[in-house]
Amino acid sequence: MREGRCLCGDVRFTADGEPKWTAYCHCRSCRRHTGAPVSAYAGFETAKVRFSGGKLACFESSPGVRRGFCSRCGSTLTYEGDRWPGEIHLHVGAFDNPETLAPAGHAFEAERLSWLHLGDPRRAG
Ligand SMILES: [Zn+2]
Ligand SMILES: [Zn+2]
Repeated sequence: MREGRCLCGDVRFTADGEPKWTAYCHCRSCRRHTGAPVSAYAGFETAKVRFSGGKLACFESSPGVRRGFCSRCGSTLTYEGDRWPGEIHLHVGAFDNPETLAPAGHAFEAERLSWLHLGDPRRAG
């Protein structure tokens, strides 16, 4: 089981088992929501993820897309989309041990920043 939390520690979560996938996302919406040039996600079955502690606030960034963040410190934590039913995408940086969640692919390559250089993602599993 993996554990994670927001920066202030109010919102905590656990994720059972291995992620279905891991990937970078280069889309503009993730960029704005996080303030970072790229986001890294691990996708888990929603049923395998449990939240505890403080309130996970939610922002609908586009129809059918919900982005979760700590209502106290603002840490970006989750992404859920109607396109991916039964799945929750957790920001890799929120995990206590992100070393075990190397992104294995890239999404929205077309929106990737030209100055961003990343090593070849290591294959998951
Ligand atoms: Zn927080
Ligand atoms: Zn994105």
